[in-house]
Amino acid sequence: DTTSGLDEKTKARIEKHPCYSEEAHHHYARMHVAVAPACNIQCNYCNRKYDCANESRPGVVSELLTPEEAAHKVLVIAGKIPQMTVLGIAGPGDPLANPEKTFRTFELIAEKAPDIKLCLSTNGLMLPDYVDRIKQLNVDHVTITINMVDPEIGAKIYPWVHYRRKRYRGVEGVKILHEKQMEGLQALKEADILCKVNSVMIPGINDEHLAEVDAVIRSKGAFLHNIMPLISAPEHGTHFGLTGQRGPTPKELKALQDKCADSNMKMMRHCRQCRADAVGLLGEDRSQEFTKEKIMEMTPEYSL
Ligand code: SF4
Ligand code: SF4
Repeated sequence: DTTSGLDEKTKARIEKHPCYSEEAHHHYARMHVAVAPACNIQCNYCNRKYDCANESRPGVVSELLTPEEAAHKVLVIAGKIPQMTVLGIAGPGDPLANPEKTFRTFELIAEKAPDIKLCLSTNGLMLPDYVDRIKQLNVDHVTITINMVDPEIGAKIYPWVHYRRKRYRGVEGVKILHEKQMEGLQALKEADILCKVNSVMIPGINDEHLAEVDAVIRSKGAFLHNIMPLISAPEHGTHFGLTGQRGPTPKELKALQDKCADSNMKMMRHCRQCRADAVGLLGEDRSQEFTKEKIMEMTPEYSL
């Protein structure tokens, strides 16, 4: 149970968020809008044709929307699915590599549907720059994908990082990413924004290292740790630099989650690795009921 041992105030903050509260995921729905196409790092397991693999199931292509289209879609869906409590931006690239689009979308939604909770996922590279803006917009949940706290291990996962108009390769780039992730985590803590950390478990690369990642993020105040399996399937095409890399078995994943759960960190075990345009309860995919075309049919009076 992800809520045991929490104080009442924190419980109230997460009770309607299906990812942060295991209990809530049976009753409340979330949606993602795919407004953020660009990315500023390269993960070796990412195939850029598809959604960001840090939050999403690989091999899925989400339909890209403008902030205006996204806000319209949210309103239509909120009208049809009353349990819709959370709106997240998780891709298809990195939301903070597309700050204008991401923040414009949040602004429009906050204005038109103030009851909907806002949520954001990022690789963390630009997070320290935007924590104030995130706080100001009342975004109460942020996910950072942290796969390592050791840049030598990170160099096997990230071939390059693009930071402030410059590309850094290998360990040099990973050091920047690591620093920014740690600063971002700290800044979220100080701003009292709940932070979930996603880690992608990659056998032979970071599987033995993730217990250390768990300890570090816990000491820095992360609220929840979500260790997800690398999903690698030949039909997703060649990954940038991990061709032939296998994902963990369910048994290996559970063993690692159990090991980290021992440390008393809240451990998320109900993540479904949703698409960047997911709609509905976790585990139920209604995205195809709400494509751009179908939304237009539902609301013929709406024109952009
Ligand atoms: Fe791909 Fe996401 Fe990594 Fe960017 S952060 S390279 S979109 S998996
Ligand atoms: Fe929640 Fe996992 Fe889906 Fe993100 S990918 S919305 S954490 S279930």
